[in-house]
Amino acid sequence: MSRLPAISRALVWLRRDLRWHDHAALHLALTHSQAVYLAFVFDTDILAPLPRRDRRVSFIRDSLARLDATLAERGRAHGHAGVRLIVRHGRPREHIPALAEALGVQAVFASHDDEPSAQARDATVRQRLGARQVAWHTVKDHLVFERAELLTRAGTPYTVYTPYARAWRAQLAPEDWAERATDPHAAALAAPPPELLYPGPTGMPTLAELGFQPPADGPQAALPEPGEAGAQAALQDFLRRHLERYHATRDTPCLDSTSRLGVHLRFGTVSVRALLRQALARLPGAAAAADQAASGPATWLSELIWRDFFAQVMAHFPHAIGGAFRPEYDAIAWEQGAQAEAHLAAWREGRTGYPLVDAALRQLASSGFMHNRLRMVAASFLVKDLGIDWRRGEAHFAEQLDDFDLSANNGNWQWAASTGCDAQPWFRIFNPVLQSRKFDPDGCFIRHWLPELAHLPSAALHDLRLLSPLERATLPAGYPAEPIVAHDAARERTLARYGAVRRPGA
Ligand SMILES: Cc1cc2nc3c(=O)[nH]c(=O)nc-3n(C[C@H](O)[C@H](O)[C@H](O)COP(=O)(O)OP(=O)(O)OC[C@H]3O[C@@H](n4cnc5c(N)ncnc54)[C@H](O)[C@@H]3O)c2cc1C
Repeated sequence: MSRLPAISRALVWLRRDLRWHDHAALHLALTHSQAVYLAFVFDTDILAPLPRRDRRVSFIRDSLARLDATLAERGRAHGHAGVRLIVRHGRPREHIPALAEALGVQAVFASHDDEPSAQARDATVRQRLGARQVAWHTVKDHLVFERAELLTRAGTPYTVYTPYARAWRAQLAPEDWAERATDPHAAALAAPPPELLYPGPTGMPTLAELGFQPPADGPQAALPEPGEAGAQAALQDFLRRHLERYHATRDTPCLDSTSRLGVHLRFGTVSVRALLRQALARLPGAAAAADQAASGPATWLSELIWRDFFAQVMAHFPHAIGGAFRPEYDAIAWEQGAQAEAHLAAWREGRTGYPLVDAALRQLASSGFMHNRLRMVAASFLVKDLGIDWRRGEAHFAEQLDDFDLSANNGNWQWAASTGCDAQPWFRIFNPVLQSRKFDPDGCFIRHWLPELAHLPSAALHDLRLLSPLERATLPAGYPAEPIVAHDAARERTLARYGAVRRPGA
């Protein structure tokens, strides 16, 4: 890639890399081209199925507005007035080739995106650019290691996390976290012809023009601060207050001590290399020696490795999108019918009678976030207590999570459902009452997200069966007086359900 010919004009097509700093595709374009334009397309194929109050559309739009301001400022600093982000609304397979032609570029640069639908989109764009003699250059940006960069000795993809993480740490070298600098090369930024900008004062479609409404309002509903500034604020807060103790506090939802950088990693308002530099700077000794659990930074690093792990699983095993990684589990007889639908609705709305599960789903509905421990508890509950197909829970998270990421969501749902690679064993079934007692012992998280139950004593808050008749009478209308399923009986049904399809010895 570094042996690219000199290019007079290039277009960088942004997708899930909405930032200026430490940007691999932008770095490559700026260092090889005399004039660089940037474009983003609000992709109607992606937007069409989303809820009309989707929080992420607002986040993207606000992040782009900030990036646009950064580009204009960097351009001005080099005497180039009118540097702007070109924004389009429609299908990239039409807009990107058309823009390449209108700008007269010789090359389009983009970051890799290994989601199956993105691969299909990019193949069409590449082919259409090729027909116009426009080169297509893509580069790794979103991950530390991707695709086939880490393989087992036998040359096969890793399907177990621990050896993958060991290989990841062993292979990590300074080049993997080096900044792909853009500031020193900003002189190559070019102002697009004004007629190519989105019409209107902001150069950007309004939410209404995109077909969306502002996200629901409310005290708990604030969107994460967008753009690079938002990512930096979250990062600095996490470094200052939580990273050192992350290993000890990350499983306690009420402490809210995780980084909240998921949404920024998803949309690329921060570079994963920048996060890696921060984690490594706080690790004693070589990165290779930084084994799991030992410290906050090492534990956090291992979470970033999980992210790479699931991304390479998706790249190698695309059949796991939409079906079980272990196909034998596609034969599981999930609950169907009116009662299953009612249970699914109760789960989504936080009315299962297991207050920790309900508080988690309320957190998701209000804030677009759910704590990792609770994602595990909520997923396990849906699949192994309610017997509902994991794909229905996966789809709900995909719709609701600000930080929704196809490979991480799919990988983790399949982990919880025991259908994935390196998954939770099928016979391990979280007990929602014990999880509640262990991870929210004084009911702090439950009381916050289910204030209508806040008056109950902690013991009963974890287990509604312990309510006295007097306390039971104080439950609010609409909240179940007892759990919608009994865990012990559900557990037996789940063992039978999985046992029926399991291969001998699996
Ligand atoms: C059922 C289920 C669904 C999930 N869906 C998603 C999803 O759609 N998108 C997503 O980014 N994460 C998902 N996760 C993983 C994890 O819950 C979130 O990444 C994390 O809670 C985000 O909060 P944070 O940014 O504060 O994370 P931190 O704890 O600060 O971790 C830092 C980063 O590491 C990565 N990471 C952490 N844990 C995991 C993990 N288990 N798998 C992959 N990457 C991880 C994320 O990018 C995260 O932002 C899911 C987990 C479960 C159990």
